Amino acid sequence: MKTEEIKGFVVTDPNEIKTRTGGCHCGAVRYEVTMSLQFTVSCNCSICTKAGYLLAFVPANQFKLLSGEEVLRDYQFHKKVAHHVFCSTCGIHSFSHGTSPDGKDMRAINLRCLDDIDLESLTFQKIDGRSW
Ligand SMILES: [Zn+2]
Repeated sequence: MKTEEIKGFVVTDPNEIKTRTGGCHCGAVRYEVTMSLQFTVSCNCSICTKAGYLLAFVPANQFKLLSGEEVLRDYQFHKKVAHHVFCSTCGIHSFSHGTSPDGKDMRAINLRCLDDIDLESLTFQKIDGRSW
């Protein structure tokens, strides 16, 4: 299946590995990330619920911050494993970063912040982060 445009909407093929771009609302924070969208997560924890995160996780070497390092502010809570960075101008949480349980440097992409993505084409695995 190819990604195609239907009446202005982009249909996202979750299995296609490609380099996608994304960022915050005001445009200060921009990044590119290379991944498929096969494994996507909707989590019920407090930060995911309030920030509206829909996530996919990638190793840090598949993620490149193109701009905005200087406007990012960090927010941490609970066990302080994840860095829930956000743009200090527009407040948008477009990605976060942290270390996986096996010690890898990871990025969590807020899929809502990717350019030209059709979230309705994706199936989200529900995660019960609230009870962690
Ligand atoms: Zn911004």
